[in-house]
Amino acid sequence: MTRVLPPGSVIGVLGSGQLGRMFAIAARRMGYRVHTLSPDEDTPTGQVSDVEVRASYEDLDAVRAFASRVHAVTFEFENVPAASIEACAALVPVHPRAEVLHTTQHRLREKTFLSKNGFPCAAFRHVRSLDELAAAAPEIGLPAVLKTAGFGYDGKGQRLLKRAEDLEPAWRSLGSADAVLEQFIDFECELSVVAARDQQGRFGHYPVCLNTHARHILDVTLAPAPVDPRTAERAVEVTRGILEALDVVGVLCVEFFLGRDGKLLVNELAPRPHNSGHYTFDACITSQFEQQLRAVCGLPLGSTEQMRPAAMANLLGDLWAGGEPLWHRAAAFPDVKLHLYGKLEARPGRKMGHLTALAQSVEQARERVLAARASLTDRSAES
Ligand code: AMP
Repeated sequence: MTRVLPPGSVIGVLGSGQLGRMFAIAARRMGYRVHTLSPDEDTPTGQVSDVEVRASYEDLDAVRAFASRVHAVTFEFENVPAASIEACAALVPVHPRAEVLHTTQHRLREKTFLSKNGFPCAAFRHVRSLDELAAAAPEIGLPAVLKTAGFGYDGKGQRLLKRAEDLEPAWRSLGSADAVLEQFIDFECELSVVAARDQQGRFGHYPVCLNTHARHILDVTLAPAPVDPRTAERAVEVTRGILEALDVVGVLCVEFFLGRDGKLLVNELAPRPHNSGHYTFDACITSQFEQQLRAVCGLPLGSTEQMRPAAMANLLGDLWAGGEPLWHRAAAFPDVKLHLYGKLEARPGRKMGHLTALAQSVEQARERVLAARASLTDRSAES
């Protein structure tokens, strides 16, 4: 049975990064209150929440105290320990449910779920020792990618194996005795679908996006993806199947490889709003963050219609290397929206914010967003 949480209710967010921040902005705009818990303080989410609790996710007493003060719990960070989610679930509804997190926070469980349920993904083997790796490599074939089984994101905990000689150093440097060896995919491009399911099981999806990465970190998203409609339809169909099979209530993103042979393979699942859906904040009738709120609160989903073609470019800490970026330069692009996450320290590779450009076509949006980002560090025009 759906219990609707009306505006004024308190939503607890485990995690305190930019995803929680944008969720909190969407929630507060609709009159909800937001509490956040993480081991840090003055966080991107905490800065825009009603209450910021600083505690370790392992501190179950603190987690229970947090949950007892809210009406529902969600998360913005998938590496929250299962025991903490269970502690919350004993007190209040948690969306998506703990099992979704359990499956998606661990590569091996996720890949096993995908292949058991017939969803397309790269061939893989579970490897727990150098001997197992040596046995798996000829089965999977080289090149292959060795990844830690748990707690990996943005390419962290990954090694590319090109030759038999790479196996031993890669195994030693991975620093994990639990890994997945995965077939290397020579892909044409990477796509993603951000989608949501409400408490009645109704499904809504955003347009398929095209993502490019730099140093394994998302760099630019184009929405809608300039791919053929059949590929887009197939990506949505697989995404719908995954949300249904996992019985997700909330937002989940499916990342795909589009092979040179035209085949779609699922790379990864993220059971929360996703970086490739940030453009929805400015370009869609309902953002991915409002959609998550609606699902968590037992409301129907909002329209996912995209109002204008869009391109999003991440702003990493590297942009600060020569001093504070020139924000007034990006502001001179009238169709570009600036989002900064309030992070106190800019470090290389750290996601500090993003720009979204809206235009008449995705190509034009891409040009604009890249020009706006380049202008942030172009000091030649400054006197
Ligand atoms: P992941 O953290 O698994 O999403 O990987 C980060 C990035 O590494 C992906 O977005 C791809 O660009 C690349 N990558 C990961 N797995 C593979 C693979 N099996 N074949 C080719 N590239 C991969």
